[in-house]
Amino acid sequence: DELNIQQMKTNKPVQKKTLGGKGSVNSQFVCPFKREKEKAQENVYNNEIESMEVEDERLKNVEPKMIELIKNEIMDSKTTICWDDIAGLDYAKKIIKEVVVYPMLRPDIFTGLRRPPKGILLFGPPGTGKTLIGKCIASQSKSTFFSISASSLTSKWIGEGEKMVRALFAVARVYQPSVIFVDEIDSLLTQRSETEHESSRRLKTEFLVQLDGAATADEDRILIVGATNRPHELDEAARRRLVKRLYVPLPEFKARKQIINNLLITVPHNLTDEDINNVAEQSKGYSGADMSNLCKEASMGPIRSIPFSQLENIRKEDVRQVTVDDFKEALIHVRPSVSESSLTTYVEWDGIYGTGT
Ligand code: ADP
Repeated sequence: DELNIQQMKTNKPVQKKTLGGKGSVNSQFVCPFKREKEKAQENVYNNEIESMEVEDERLKNVEPKMIELIKNEIMDSKTTICWDDIAGLDYAKKIIKEVVVYPMLRPDIFTGLRRPPKGILLFGPPGTGKTLIGKCIASQSKSTFFSISASSLTSKWIGEGEKMVRALFAVARVYQPSVIFVDEIDSLLTQRSETEHESSRRLKTEFLVQLDGAATADEDRILIVGATNRPHELDEAARRRLVKRLYVPLPEFKARKQIINNLLITVPHNLTDEDINNVAEQSKGYSGADMSNLCKEASMGPIRSIPFSQLENIRKEDVRQVTVDDFKEALIHVRPSVSESSLTTYVEWDGIYGTGT
């Protein structure tokens, strides 16, 4: 009866003690060491979550499901990016170091007049390194990186977008210093239109509320980095909150060269410095992402020259080097993704709203 009462209380089957050990005849052997290890790991995990959740009032009203989702899909503490991984963009990098990274490292010095902005905007054509910069800010300021695409708030989490935004800021507060990177921020902070949906209006309002909350709470160290390819669609409310607005242009000659050099480190090649200069010249108008595609395409040249029947057995050292001809061929197939005409709109917007160059 004692056992039954216990069972009712815990709602779990109670193990009866038997002579000769806990396991029954049919139970599988479980290595005791592994078990200990698993237990230890489980404890660490549970303690982490518990201490985070118990200690933190801020997560009291957030659904655990949302916290998990954010930790799995939005939070990224693994990738480390340094400034040299980002080719060119010297001006943007300089401003960002000064305005946001140093203040995040030394909040005690950057107070009062020196207080950093809570939001910045990176704008420019797609594939030019805006996301890379966001990750780099987080790595270099020893912050937790959260990355979310604003369009996913309206599409992927239909109806849950508002909750998601609230949860995101709550988790970011717990893990601060934090950098919240919002890609396609234009789709969230766009100019109001007559046809705007009630739900997207609410989502926008919630985002602005959270943004302002993060901006006014002095002790919070949360930086919002918005990125957009369509800066002209942002309204005044958005511009006012994203204080520094930096143009992230297509890579110039020197930067294109650096991207090629960086990527070629990973494959055997025989390109001379002059060859690389030539490729860099001929890839004018390519974005960083286009450059990466170009190099990937060129690196496939040697593989394509191996007859399929030999592919399985060929020795690695017999695969020929990547040559300048592979690049010439790749330049035919990989074309720039950004039209020249679209560039003028960025330059114009930069002239009016940008944080000068
Ligand atoms: P976006 O501006 O659209 O956020 P990303 O930062 O995601 O562009 O860049 C996409 C990819 O293109 C990067 O992962 C990287 O491989 C390459 N890339 C883009 N810009 C640069 C750059 N300035 N330096 C080095 N690689 C770059």
